[in-house]
Amino acid sequence: MRPFSYHRASDAIDAVNAAAAQDATAEFIAGGTNMLDYMKLGVVQPGRLVDINALSKDVHGRIEVSQSRLRLGSLVRMAEAQDHPTIKRDYPVIAESLMLAASQQIRNMASLGGNVLQKTRCEYFRETSWACNKRNPGSGCAAFDGVNREHAVLGGGPACIATYHGDFAQALVALDASVETIGPKGLRRIPFANLHRLPGKTPELETNLAPGELITNIDIPAGPHTRRSRYLKIRDRQSYQFALASAAVALALEGDKVRDVRIALGGVATVPWRAREAEESLRGKVLDEASATKAAEVAFAGAEPREHNAFKIPLGMATIVRALLEAKDMRV
Ligand code: SF4
Repeated sequence: MRPFSYHRASDAIDAVNAAAAQDATAEFIAGGTNMLDYMKLGVVQPGRLVDINALSKDVHGRIEVSQSRLRLGSLVRMAEAQDHPTIKRDYPVIAESLMLAASQQIRNMASLGGNVLQKTRCEYFRETSWACNKRNPGSGCAAFDGVNREHAVLGGGPACIATYHGDFAQALVALDASVETIGPKGLRRIPFANLHRLPGKTPELETNLAPGELITNIDIPAGPHTRRSRYLKIRDRQSYQFALASAAVALALEGDKVRDVRIALGGVATVPWRAREAEESLRGKVLDEASATKAAEVAFAGAEPREHNAFKIPLGMATIVRALLEAKDMRV
C-alpha cells in the first residue's frame, strides 16, 4: 500500500477544502467498505483520505419524508434506510434494493453516498497485472477476449464493458432521483441519471462529479408510482452476491392500464440503466405477460453480447417481465 495522509473533516466545507488541497488524488471515505478494498488491492491510490464520518448527522445523516419527496442524507447507512418503515411502505423498491445488496454487516457500515459511487467488480480491474483501460487508460481491456460472463451487454464502449454492480442506484434512476453536492465551485444538483458516465473512450471517468465534489443528499420525488414498486435481483446465489440481472420497476395503474411506468436495469449495463423506450411501449397499455414481454424486448433491442454473456439478454428480459407482473399484483 502506498503512503497517504488522513484528514477527519469537521464539516462539508472543511471536507471539500481538504480534498481540494490535495487535488484529484484525494478520496472521501465514510463506511470504507469499497474504498479500503480497492486501496488494499492497489487499484485506488489516493494521496489523501478525507474522512467525512464526523460531519453533522443532523445535516447529512437524516431521513426526511414529506408529501413531495423522500430526502436521504449521504451519510445514512444502507441498513438504516432499508429498515425505515415509511421507505418500506411508500418506496419499497428502495428498501428492497438496499436489503438485497451485500451483507448485513456491510449494510450497517456503508453510507448511501458511497454506495452509489461504488466501483465495478470487473476482475480484470481488481487485479492490477491485467490490461484495463479503466484502471490504466490506454492499456487495453482484458475482458474483451477474456472471461466476460459478468460483463455488460448494454452501454459498453470501445474501451470498456464493465458492469455497474450496485443495486440502490437502479431504484434511484427509476424514480428520477437527484443528488445535491458541494464542491470547490459551490453547491449544485445533478439528476441521478446524469451522475454516472457511459464508458465511451474514457472509462476512467466514472461520474460527472468534479474532483473534490461531495454528495450531501439524495432526493427522490414522491409520486403515485412509488408504492407499487419493486426490485428484483437475479444472481448465482441468493445472498451476498452481485446481480447477473436486476430490474427496478414502479407502476401507476388506471384499472388494468399503465398510466406511468419506470424500468431500470442492473447487472447488464455499464451504468444504472433506465429503459425509457421500454417504458414508452407500455404507457396506456394493459399490463399483461404479452405487453411486459414486448417491453422487455424493446429494453434489450440494442444489446451487444460478448462470448460468455449472451445469456444475460433472455435473463434480463425475464427479470423485467417478472418484476412488472409482480408489481402489478402488489396490494398498495
Ligand atoms: Fe477494465 Fe473495463 Fe475492460 Fe474490465 S471491462 S478490464 S474495467 S476496461
